[in-house]
Parts: sequence; structure tokens; C-alpha cells
Amino acid sequence: MMPDDSSSGHALTAAMAWPGVIEAYRDFLPVTAATPVVTLQEGRTPLIPSKRLGARLGLRLFFKFEAANPTGSFKDRGMTVAVSKALEAGSRAVVCASTGNTAASAAAYAARASLPCVIVLPADGVAAGKLGQVVAHGARVVAVEAGFDAALAATRELAARAGLTLVNSVNPYRLEGQKTVAFEIVDALGRAPDLLVLPVGNGGNITACWRGFQEYRQAGRLTALPQMVGVQAEGAAPLVDGHPVTSPRTVATAIRIGRPASWEGAVEAARASGGRFVKVADDAILAARRELAAGEGLLVEPASAAALAGLQLLAAARPFSGEVAVCILTGHGLKDPPPLAPSLLPTVARTVEALSTVVERLLA
Ligand SMILES: *Cc1c(COP(=O)(O)O)cnc(C)c1O
Repeated sequence: MMPDDSSSGHALTAAMAWPGVIEAYRDFLPVTAATPVVTLQEGRTPLIPSKRLGARLGLRLFFKFEAANPTGSFKDRGMTVAVSKALEAGSRAVVCASTGNTAASAAAYAARASLPCVIVLPADGVAAGKLGQVVAHGARVVAVEAGFDAALAATRELAARAGLTLVNSVNPYRLEGQKTVAFEIVDALGRAPDLLVLPVGNGGNITACWRGFQEYRQAGRLTALPQMVGVQAEGAAPLVDGHPVTSPRTVATAIRIGRPASWEGAVEAARASGGRFVKVADDAILAARRELAAGEGLLVEPASAAALAGLQLLAAARPFSGEVAVCILTGHGLKDPPPLAPSLLPTVARTVEALSTVVERLLA
């Protein structure tokens, strides 16, 4: 007879496994015993040492692989806190405007909490994989004829008027949850890196991450803080250019943002840490994505590869000398897969001879 699941050793092991970021870092988060924890056991993502690219850049480079979160991006760290607090407050429904990953995460955590979820999509494009996630999780989706920045402005007003909980990163609980990435990096390295490099769109993640390092220092868990380096795409680089961009353009849809919602927090993180913002061309982003996939075994979405492209740009200007750097790889490549032309696939007759001839040619 099959053992009853609830009494089996496997069930007990699973129950004692990683509990998600709220339970793991409860003392640092705005939750109480009364908060119903909505979790998909997000967090504890791998910190993967670089095999090749780091040495080439003169760095001791690590990749924080946030694609390993349940919905495939770092947004889950913030969403577990935002949706738990929405449930605690008795919210009617959650709502967000999104370039994709926030929507996928909101839809999944709302499904987990049995809360209705409304997604407002900007008309200027969302990667197909992310839209598929939203629909699969049962969210209500509406597209507006606007870019992301205008869609967010309208959604903020809608939330206030209709009594819905806004779960964009302007929701303070999102940033509280997202700061846990800094805790995990320090827990794994035993110190903060010299450089923390990440792609920046709305500026929420760089703000949250910097806050995490500062709180860990106050708690005595680290001494030296990292320099925060925020990377933007050339066609969507308000924080580098110093002014909002009206029609942001880049292949990296997750950072196609012209008016960052967390502008001040992002600027402060770079300034106070002695870091900076840099911008990289779409070509460099796509090349960095290929290098990560083929050279390191890590397939990420274009926005995530911008972080590596930013490091490469800095190294070209001034060589590194063995610094410890962490690149946050924010989202999974399967959400926005690289194109593959079917004509690239050799097709052969069904004989071992034909097959081995082609395979030997491919390996040559
Ligand atoms: C949201 C997102 C970003 C940008 O983060 P911000 O907090 O908006 O600066 C970068 N990469 C990916 C994959 C994202 O989903």
C-alpha cells in the first residue's frame, strides 16, 4: 500500500525545506504572526561562480541566478510580501501594470492566495512567454493603448478608485521582499561583493538591493558595502541621461522604461555606494546573452544580459584587478527565447551512416 502522503518521510522533508523569503528573513520584513504567508518557496537562488567570463574581465565573478525563482524572475521575492499583505488587509483584488515579469509573478501569487488578479498590459509589447504565464494563472488581462509609463499612471489611479491593491514596485512591500537578494548574497559569500551589477528599469530592484546591504550592515552581518552599478539600455537610459525618455526603445522589454517609478531610490543607491549607471547597446545586450548561454550554461532574458554587457563596458574603459563582482541575472531566457531559424537544422535520412557523417561535421 502507498503510504499516506502526510505521514511519509518525504512529506516531512519537504515541509522542513527552504520556506521562502518571508520565513527565512522574517526579522527583516514587515510581517507579524497575523500575516497569512503566501509563498511559492521563492528565493535561495544559486550564486554561480563564472567559469570563463569573469577571468576574461579580471574579476572574481558570480551570477545570482534569479531565473530560478518559481515564476522565473526576481519579482517573486517582492510579490510574496505584497500579496501576503494584501490578503492580510482583506483586499478585493490585486492589480498591476507590467512589462511582463511583474504580471507573471502577481498572477501566480494571486492564484496561490485565491485572490483575483487584474493585469494591465502596455500596448508596446510583452514577451510571449510572460503573457502565457499570466493567462495560465487565470489573471484578468486588459491591454491599454499606451507605453508602460502611461499604463502605470492609469493603473495607479484605477487602484485608488476601485479599491484594488496595486502590486507594482511602488507598493512598498515589493521592495521589502526584494531586498532579500542582498541577504542571500552575503549569506553565501560571507561578505558583500565589491561590485553589485544589475539591470535597471523602474529602479525598484537597485533601491531594494541597496537597502538590503545597508540593513545587513546595521545587523552586523557585513562590514564593507558594495558599489552598486545599474545598467540601462541605450534607447531607455533615463538614469544615465538624467531625464525621462518619452519613447523608450530596446529589445530588453523588462527594462524598456522611460520614467522610472523609483528614480530617487535608484539614484541614491548609485550615489551613496560610490557606484554608477551605465548604458549599453542592444547589440551588446544580445551578444552578452549569447556568451552567458554558450560560455556559462546560463540562458537569461535580454534585460538580464544587460548586466554582463555593462560589466564588459566598464572593463573596456578601465581593467579590473580581481574584484569580487556579482551580476544579478534577473529573469529566465525561456520567457523570451532566442530566435532559431529552422533552416539552421540539418536534416538527414534515417541511417546511422548519414547521421554520423553530419554529426562529425558538426563537431569538427
Ligand atoms: C523587472 C525587471 C528588471 C528591472 O527591475 P526594476 O526594479 O524595474 O529596475 C530587470 N530585469 C528583469 C528580468 C525584470 O523582470
